[in-house]
Amino acid sequence: MTADASEPTATTDFIREAVADDNRTGRFGGRVHTRFPPEPNAYLHIGHAKAVWIDYGVAQDFGGLFNLRFDDTNPTKEEQEYVDAIVADVRWLGADWGDRLFFASGYFSQMYEWAEDLIRKGKAYVCDLSADEVTEHRGTLTRPGRDSPYRGRSVEENLDLFRRMRAGEFPDGSRTLRAKIDMASPNLNMRDPVMYRILHASHHRTGDSWCIYPMYDWAHGLEDSIERVTHSLCSLEYENHRPLYDWFLDQLGIYHPRQIEFARLNVTYTVLSKRRLLEIVKGGHVKGWDDPRMPTLAGLRRRGYTPEAIRDFCRRIGIAKMDSVVDVGLLEHCLREDLNRRAPRVMGVLRPLRVVLDNYPEGQVEDLEAVNNPEDAAAGTRKVPFSRVLYIEREDFMEEPPKKFFRLAPGREVRLRYAYFVTCTGVVKDPATGEVVELHCTYDPATRGGDAPDGRKVKATLHWVSAAHALEAEVRLYDHLFAKPDPDDVPEGQDWTANLNPKSLEVLSGCRVEPSLAAAAPGTRVQFERLGYFCVDPDSAPGRLVFNRTVTLKDAWAKIQRKQGG
Ligand code: ATP
Ligand code: MG
Repeated sequence: MTADASEPTATTDFIREAVADDNRTGRFGGRVHTRFPPEPNAYLHIGHAKAVWIDYGVAQDFGGLFNLRFDDTNPTKEEQEYVDAIVADVRWLGADWGDRLFFASGYFSQMYEWAEDLIRKGKAYVCDLSADEVTEHRGTLTRPGRDSPYRGRSVEENLDLFRRMRAGEFPDGSRTLRAKIDMASPNLNMRDPVMYRILHASHHRTGDSWCIYPMYDWAHGLEDSIERVTHSLCSLEYENHRPLYDWFLDQLGIYHPRQIEFARLNVTYTVLSKRRLLEIVKGGHVKGWDDPRMPTLAGLRRRGYTPEAIRDFCRRIGIAKMDSVVDVGLLEHCLREDLNRRAPRVMGVLRPLRVVLDNYPEGQVEDLEAVNNPEDAAAGTRKVPFSRVLYIEREDFMEEPPKKFFRLAPGREVRLRYAYFVTCTGVVKDPATGEVVELHCTYDPATRGGDAPDGRKVKATLHWVSAAHALEAEVRLYDHLFAKPDPDDVPEGQDWTANLNPKSLEVLSGCRVEPSLAAAAPGTRVQFERLGYFCVDPDSAPGRLVFNRTVTLKDAWAKIQRKQGG
């Protein structure tokens, strides 16, 4: 293949190839114009991010335009809250729609005119069958449908009835406007699909001006046509709707965009169906749409995800014509890579164990210099206070350490990060429970900064905080929302809720973090050294820090434990 200026420079895929082809043949006069068309009936999820990055990415690669358009044709399910959330999410992802924010409801009058046009052309009719009867008449994949008894109505009668539908003369569900296509078509979507139904419902934008509302298949191509979209990119479930998309535009003889379908994104351990996510929220299985366990963009953002990590993920999964399931580990990998570059390192102790340095002067405080980000020299250093009483991570000590446990144990010396070598000299236990409640250690003043002048080595470096200076914090640890990679893999007789992970949230209180975090604003992302990436939750208030664990670091110890079968 020869390179051409109309071709994208980035990695290509079948959609970009199709667009480049259209540019070569001049099908749209070299224009590229895409749109992202969410229905405002739920929050966006990571699957929608993939769609946004295909729509917006294609427009960008070809120097084209991108619209954000709400497909708000069903007032019973749509709400302004969802519109606002979606606008915020798409903006957060980084897609730029310029001044092209549109609403399908803004085209209702034009759509209505076109519907009358189809009636006049003998291509649409008012049908008095009930919804159940319509379904029954439609037939199945193996059985052709049957014509509606109202199919033969005259143009005049159809126009009269349709206008009266619009005028509000008939109750909900009593009549529909249907396209007159072919009740024997092998494609069920072509068997006289409903174009309008009667619905006396207030719309979040048009109020009570309409009591008939257009169906998706009728409306969508018209919206694309009005906006002069060139490539209408959508997920695979619309593939067998494409003949209908084309049929409507051809019958009307109006500007005709090209629909191209791509595979939907699925991710292990979660669901990406708006209906399901709505059930999870309404059913109280999570705290809301932005619960950090949710695969919604609002949830991922609150969890600490960056738009860059999501974009990188979308780039890596690529665009395919076949549905597949992507390992959530890849999403987490993209996140770690991004946060590793940008998240400042701090020290925090999730499950504190008190340590007293017996030979450290009472009342002395040293400000030790700590590196903010070893990946980014420009991030500089900060001072961390060190004193006689510290907290270390409870799991960094074992009284009877197994082989390969190199951290603190009685008689053993380890390094405290940025500080000193310490040796454990004593263990204090709760006489009632036997639980270790305090360690006594000595420190070696010659090892300040973390190296011994005599060259002796230690096998572990632990994080710590100074007890007198540390801030108390709540830390929320998250695990997958579902306990199984495929949430639909349920035992006979149970539904998907059986697979919800009962351990998806663990709340730790009494955690301790270094004082530099005192003023950290919600959304601030940090790495707690050795533990993972965390971000400040909006529930935080001055004096009451709350962190979400965004993602763990890779845990080498867990790997060894697995290998040992421990
Ligand atoms: P519904 O099940 O109600 O149709 P939807 O998730 O398809 O929900 P839309 O608002 O129609 O919701 O989605 C907007 C756009 O996002 C559509 O073009 C759709 O193709 C795309 N999209 C939705 N889910 C995914 C997914 N999992 N992967 C990729 N694209 C998706
Ligand atoms: Mg959809």
